Amino acid sequence: MAYDPNNVFAKILRGEIPCKKVHEDAHTLAFHDINPQAKVHVLVIPKGRYVSMDDFTAKASEAEIVGLFRAVGQVARQLGVAESGYRALTNAGRHAHQEVDHLHIHIFAGQPLGRMIQPPM
Ligand code: AMP
Repeated sequence: MAYDPNNVFAKILRGEIPCKKVHEDAHTLAFHDINPQAKVHVLVIPKGRYVSMDDFTAKASEAEIVGLFRAVGQVARQLGVAESGYRALTNAGRHAHQEVDHLHIHIFAGQPLGRMIQPPM
């Protein structure tokens, strides 16, 4: 899938729509999810134009890959949830119900999160 520069996270990165920012560095931006699914629900995104984890792991530089994973840990510590625990999750593609086609890692925390995944129907 080609990257669509008009996706909502591209617009956030360009400052065209607002976000509740929690972290920014050379390679990443993190902000609160607009429709939180847990007491803490933050998204960490790369600044580069990557559709999904598939696209990112195929094309991103080592600095971008390290930067994204370091940012996830840093954001969790900054939010004060590293000790109590959190779930980092990314949806890639149709079967995972990816809705926004710019790679994002969800951080869910602040409460017990239950089982990792629903069993297949
Ligand atoms: P996914 O299904 O993994 O693609 O998740 C997309 C996420 O983006 C959802 O949790 C949405 O609530 C979130 N989202 C969509 N638009 C915005 C926005 N403008 N600001 C923050 N989060 C958003």
